[in-house]
Amino acid sequence: MPRGMVPRQPARTGRQDKVRAEQTAGAKNARVERGAPASLPRAKSRGPGRGKASAAAPKRRQNAAGKAAPASVSKVKGYNPTAPERVAEILHRLDQLYPEVTCALTHSSAWELLVATILSAQSTDVNVNRVTPELFRKYPTVEAFAALTPEQLEPDVRSTGFFRNKSKSVVGAAKKIVADYGGEVPDDMEKLLTLPGVARKTANVVLGSWFKKGEGVVVDTHVHRISRRLELTTQDDPQKIEQDLMKIIPRDKWILFSHQIIWHGRKLCIARKPKCADCALENLCHAADKTWSTVEMHKNAKA
Ligand code: SF4
Repeated sequence: MPRGMVPRQPARTGRQDKVRAEQTAGAKNARVERGAPASLPRAKSRGPGRGKASAAAPKRRQNAAGKAAPASVSKVKGYNPTAPERVAEILHRLDQLYPEVTCALTHSSAWELLVATILSAQSTDVNVNRVTPELFRKYPTVEAFAALTPEQLEPDVRSTGFFRNKSKSVVGAAKKIVADYGGEVPDDMEKLLTLPGVARKTANVVLGSWFKKGEGVVVDTHVHRISRRLELTTQDDPQKIEQDLMKIIPRDKWILFSHQIIWHGRKLCIARKPKCADCALENLCHAADKTWSTVEMHKNAKA
């Protein structure tokens, strides 16, 4: 029966009972599809059980965590996903996995990093890194960009997508930097936010990666997704996610944490099919969309 359609009156024939039975069965199936606890055995069998990873799984668990995974963290009374010990353990494992990661965007100045970050919206770092060397060879200074019209820049950044808006932002930012900041990218959050096309994410990348100032946590698509999977936040808005992360992550870790999570998102915790069987955070993670799990999955812990 289509959703929302209700018979006008109960049928004496018992038809109503049949409908209820179908609805109950449908709801049950839907719960399983959504990854409710009942789906755990299925998720488990989809992981290492399919191939050679099966035999290696227990070893991997021990290597990753250094100890056996608990049967179910969520069943521990008072489970708190943002408890300092849990967050510290996540940070510790990220340090082991990605000890010296930095920004993946190729750059040699604050201006180049600013441009690359603007171009990286809705694109990949690999794609941006393909475009920027030639771009900065053609226009080597902020002043050179400021002398352009957005239309002139469009062909050079076309392959990064959304090229009209990006051209406007880059040229607009260059003009503002030349006119108001003496040709130097400001190292101040408030001033950076006055530049066209620059929001907190871009400002945090420039402040953190170039000026080494931890003013906030970069919340890009990877940090957004993985913070929710790890239950470090339940928010969906990047600014609210940033506020949540800033409360639970020590300030001196803000820059590194963003880089580590971005690398984790590229290598293992990918959007569609995370490689949970290879993940060192596996027994700390209760994400509903895990592809393999040794712990209970939480239906609200999702990207
Ligand atoms: S266990 Fe899976 S979902 Fe969780 S952080 Fe690792 S890769 Fe991502």
